[in-house]
Order: sequence, then C-alpha cells, then structure tokens
Amino acid sequence: MPNDIFDKVDNKKELSKADIKYLLEIENKDELQQLFNKAYDIKSTNIGKKVWFRGIIEFSNICRKDCYYCGIRKSNKTVERFMMKEEEILEGAEWAYKQNYGSVVLQSGERDDPYFVDFITSVLEKIKKLSNGELGITISLGEQSKKTYRRWFNAGAHRYLLRVETTNTELYKKLHPEDHSLENRIACLRSLKEVGYQLGTGVMIGLPMQTIDDLVNDILFFKEIDADMIGMGPYIVSENTPTAEYIDDYTAIKENQYKLALKMIAATRIYLRDVNIASTTALQALKTYGREMGLKAGANIIMPNVTDTKYRSNYQLYEDKPCVDESSDLCMGCLEGRILKIDETVGLGEWGDSPHFKKKTGKIGN
Ligand code: SAM
Ligand code: SF4
Repeated sequence: MPNDIFDKVDNKKELSKADIKYLLEIENKDELQQLFNKAYDIKSTNIGKKVWFRGIIEFSNICRKDCYYCGIRKSNKTVERFMMKEEEILEGAEWAYKQNYGSVVLQSGERDDPYFVDFITSVLEKIKKLSNGELGITISLGEQSKKTYRRWFNAGAHRYLLRVETTNTELYKKLHPEDHSLENRIACLRSLKEVGYQLGTGVMIGLPMQTIDDLVNDILFFKEIDADMIGMGPYIVSENTPTAEYIDDYTAIKENQYKLALKMIAATRIYLRDVNIASTTALQALKTYGREMGLKAGANIIMPNVTDTKYRSNYQLYEDKPCVDESSDLCMGCLEGRILKIDETVGLGEWGDSPHFKKKTGKIGN
C-alpha cells in the first residue's frame, strides 16, 4: 500500500526496490494522486514552490553518433544539418540574460573534433563575458574526453547533462550500434564529477523492451552515481529510425507513456529528495499541459527553447516536438503564465543550482 511506503518516506527510511516498483506500477486514480501529492510535498519542502528556467539553445544537429531512437542520428539522411554561428548562439544567450532567466543550456549533436572543442570554449567564455559572469551555463554535448570536459568547465560551464539513457546493458545494446557503449557513458559521468560539474543524468521512459524493473534500477543508479540533476522524459517515436520499427501504433501507447513518465518523476523525487528534476519538453509533446503536470509530480526545472525559430524544425528528435514555430518571446509568455497558474513562482535571475550539490559541497552559485 502506498501509505506504508509514504510512512517510510516520512520517517526518512530507505525505500526498497519493491517499494519503488510499487510506486511505478500504480494505476488506481486515487493512489496516483497520492503519489503525485507526496512527491510535490517533498519538492516544496526541499526546494520551495519555485521553478527555475534554463533557456535552451539547440545550436547544432550535426552528430557523429547513430543512436537508433534519435531523429538527428547521423544515418538519417532526411535531416538538413545546421550549425548556428557563434553570434547567433550569443544572441540567444543574451536574450535569455535580458529576460532574467539566470541560466542557459547549450545542447547539440555529439562532435569531438578540435574545431568544435575550440568553438564551444570560445562560446562559453563569451557568454560569461556578455553576462558579467551572471548567467549560469549547463552544457549537454555528449561523450567527450576528460580533458575536454575540464576545458569547458574552466571556460565557464558548471553543469553537464548526459543521460545514461538506460542502465540495462542488454537494452542499451539493442538501442545503439556496437561502437556505442554504456560503459563509456558511465565513465564519462564519473569524469564529469571529478572535474567538478554539477552532474545531470537521466533516461528515456517507455522504451521498447524496457521493463518496470529496468526503471527501478535506473532510479537506484541515479543515487549510486550521486546525480545532482535529473533530466528524463518519455521515449517518443521518431519516424525513419530503427527503434520506431518496434512500435506498431504510438498513439495507442501515448497515454501510458505520459503516465509512466510522471510516475518516474514522482518516484525519483521521493527517492532522491533534493536534486533538480526537469519537466521536459517531451512531456509537453504528449500532453498540452504535460510540463505543468511534471511540476505537479515533483519536477522543478523548465527549459524554455530560446533557439532561433528558423533552426528549430531541424532539431526534431521525435514527432510533434512543441514550440517549433513559436518565437522565444511567445514561449516565455506562455510558460510564465502557466507556472503562475499552478501556484508556483519563477526563480528569475538565479542559477538555481541543485540543492543536493550545494549541501554536498557547500558551494553556492549566485
Ligand atoms: N547528443 C547529446 C547526447 O546524446 O547526450 C545531447 C543531445 S541528445 C538529442 C539529448 C537527448 O535526447 C538524449 O540524451 C536522448 O535521451 C533524447 N532523445 C533522443 N531521441 C529521443 C526520442 N526519440 N524520444 C525521446 N527522447 C529522445
Ligand atoms: Fe546524437 Fe545525442 Fe541523438 Fe545520440 S541522442 S544520435 S548522440 S544527438
């Protein structure tokens, strides 16, 4: 019964695997509401009734990897490749700064060539300069050498998001070509921590062949790796990708994907308590108010898209990605209103660092 589990939570007792599994398998409407309420309470106690924005700039879809589920994988010949110019990225960052967002996220396909590494280093230094060091910077640029991670950290990035995607080795193999390795991904997570980043990871939820036990193990992994931030969302089918072939009718499973993603947010919040958890765009792709529901289920971060609209249609990781045609201003307006409606405030002008990281290190951003 969830009440027994919630008693354990209230008494700060460690949940067992079976407890977490129970939470992820809840179907009864009242129990589900209880689960979301409990997660939201824990979020409010540990973080406050506050949502932090990260303006995300998806600046390039050029990728050397070939993950079978991703719409911008290198073998997808239907995609028109782009890389934003440095000035364009800086404009996006400046716009976010002027809106008082507090932080930006730079995300792209994976590249490790020297030109790219230098380019990112320069962009990071310039973002720091244009914001007088005030904008916080998260980067999400895939697997790199420790040397590169260190260079980008020294240039101004202080949070890194690298989803492990799934912790089930067999499943990982089925979703990636042979030269992609879960081991290396986990080694990268460890390097990022050693360099000093606030560590973000996460998984896709509702992948073909993924079981509830896999998701339980994913949550345990978040704790084991001592993640500071979690960014996870539902797997959404992307046409022209090998993983899509496992799915007969995505519409038929959409509701389930959505519900499972919310349960994962709630269970993760209950288990980890003080980490930052993003309510991702993929949730909104499944339900108009999906991101707000993510906040109500225990998430506390939203990443409004501040990428120039002309590039957005080419950064389609999956079908029905929202806000593809809206300008950044419209995104900002609609989001802020939505947050206030659910009785939360936006933490403007703050880095919004993970309370978990602050407690661990005693380090405070701004
Ligand atoms: N290339 C970097 C990497 O893979 O870490 C960052 C960009 S990548 C597009 C960001 C995330 O998109 C991946 O970690 C993956 O979880 C997610 N993603 C890719 N395809 C997806 C899909 N079909 N449904 C949901 N999420 C997807
Ligand atoms: Fe490239 Fe990231 Fe997509 Fe994999 S998930 S193909 S690394 S952009």
